[in-house]
Amino acid sequence: MKEEFRSLLILQEADRAIQGAHVRQNQIPQEILSLQEDLGTHERILEEEKEEFRETEKRRRRLEMDLATLTETLKKHQTQLHTVKTNKEYTALLHEIEEEKKKISDIEEDILILIDETDERMKRIGEKEKMVEEKRQGTDENQRNLEKEKSSLEKHLQKREDERKQILARMDGSLLTQYKRILKGRQGIAIVAIQGAVCEECFTALPPQVAVEIRMGEKLHVCENCGRILVWKGD
Ligand SMILES: [Zn+2]
Repeated sequence: MKEEFRSLLILQEADRAIQGAHVRQNQIPQEILSLQEDLGTHERILEEEKEEFRETEKRRRRLEMDLATLTETLKKHQTQLHTVKTNKEYTALLHEIEEEKKKISDIEEDILILIDETDERMKRIGEKEKMVEEKRQGTDENQRNLEKEKSSLEKHLQKREDERKQILARMDGSLLTQYKRILKGRQGIAIVAIQGAVCEECFTALPPQVAVEIRMGEKLHVCENCGRILVWKGD
């Protein structure tokens, strides 16, 4: 009987380790996914920034085209000034020229603002690119580590499962059934070692006689309070 109790304790440790390994195993894919999502968010932000940069460049090029056309027209009108026949035509043309000069100066100002904006955006993109690159490397490294952990967990799990099978093969059927039944109803803990004459799980004091019997390992005892199998771990 004593040996059996000890086997149960080992079985429970194996069960607990297996359970923990499964929990961790299930967490890893989620962790990898959220690493990738985080990187994806940063990459998207960078892409948006680049798209805005391209838009700004397009706007600037359009303005430069407008500027070229207006400058052409201005030149043409300035030449025409020398050839107009009437005073009225002259005044009208002069007015147009003034308007064109004003528009040109406005466009030039807008272009300067856009150039500043482009510089600013370029700087930001450079910084973000560097950041995303670092993030990518960090993500790769973390992912590699998680995958390594996953494969070592699998090995560990395999070992524990083998260990468990060996224990089960040596165990008494009815004790095992009782163990499994208690395990189900007691949050994965069916066996408790006693500490002196106290249940280590719920801290209930045991009658001295019961504690002695548990130490001797002759009889199966269950904690009156928490219902778990009580065993003596040894001195
Ligand atoms: Zn107890």
